[in-house]
Amino acid sequence: MGPLDFSKFKTVKYKYISFFKIQKIVKKIQALEKLNPKFQNFTDLINTEKKLKKIIGADNVKLKEFKQKFDSCGISFDFEDCTAGNGCGNCIPCRNNAEKISFREKILKALDYENNGKASLRKVYSRLGLKTCYVCNAQYALNAVPENRPAKGTVAVQDRYKAKFQFDHYLPKAKYPALSISLFNLFPICSPCNSIKGERDLGIDFLSSDPNDWDDKFTFKILEKSLTAFLLNQKAMKIDFIDKTTYIGMESLAKRFDIKGIYNNQIDLIEELIIRKLKYSDTYKGKLTQSFPNLFHKTSIDERIELGTYSQNEGIHKRPMSKFIHDIDQQLTDHFQKELLKIGN
Ligand SMILES: [Zn+2]
Ligand SMILES: [Zn+2]
Repeated sequence: MGPLDFSKFKTVKYKYISFFKIQKIVKKIQALEKLNPKFQNFTDLINTEKKLKKIIGADNVKLKEFKQKFDSCGISFDFEDCTAGNGCGNCIPCRNNAEKISFREKILKALDYENNGKASLRKVYSRLGLKTCYVCNAQYALNAVPENRPAKGTVAVQDRYKAKFQFDHYLPKAKYPALSISLFNLFPICSPCNSIKGERDLGIDFLSSDPNDWDDKFTFKILEKSLTAFLLNQKAMKIDFIDKTTYIGMESLAKRFDIKGIYNNQIDLIEELIIRKLKYSDTYKGKLTQSFPNLFHKTSIDERIELGTYSQNEGIHKRPMSKFIHDIDQQLTDHFQKELLKIGN
């Protein structure tokens, strides 16, 4: 929903790489390479310690370069159509596909994202301050997941649940198995969005951290008429979601994830924001400071309370609903300024 601050990923990059037993992985890849000479062009890209470290730590720019290298190495994990049309398992495309799937699974197993990769990522992730789902921004990317561990002092396995970050492979691991452990390819996602996204491409360049690429890609707005009706008669407001991304041959993000549906149910947040914007005049804020001299001394917290979330720069990925609140705060500021100008004239 907004640009990811990749400079944060850079701060944990080396720590993250250090958790991998690279020598062991290389040995596994080299063994696979001997058994599968057909896939040499692919394994050539990941068969040394140096190459693997580069892939694990590839930043958003390098990751795009790697994507291209894998796209053009002649071994794609896009699958061919069965000639019989029913996945017969015997025709040439079906047999090619089976071979590719089996090779892909072996690569994924050798890289071991499921155990070591995920565990390593969780060790560094809390330091990034990225906590919300990168797709919907409506929820935290934390989910309680079962942990089957022996209870202390016994051998009996106990079912316990622990809140853990959930991640999405932005470049899907089914298509880019070698990028399954790349730090900059792993974004926080909530469970519902993850189940909708699956292995699909979002059709949005989330690897771009250039704010200019993000300007107004998505914008929340209150329908102007409904804002007036709310201000005059406290009638329910309706929100609009403007999605300016171009999706080639695919459904828009707004439609696929029913963004409007999610946010129209959170309109109470905006009612509160309007009330704060109207009530927190400079005089009122001055009075609060006088009444609570030790409580209201941090400007950043004051601003946060007035806005209802963190500021524009840090908020979006730190607290759910921040993109929504920021956009509408901007709309309201513009709206009230216009009203003031009208009165002035
Ligand atoms: Zn077939
Ligand atoms: Zn989500």
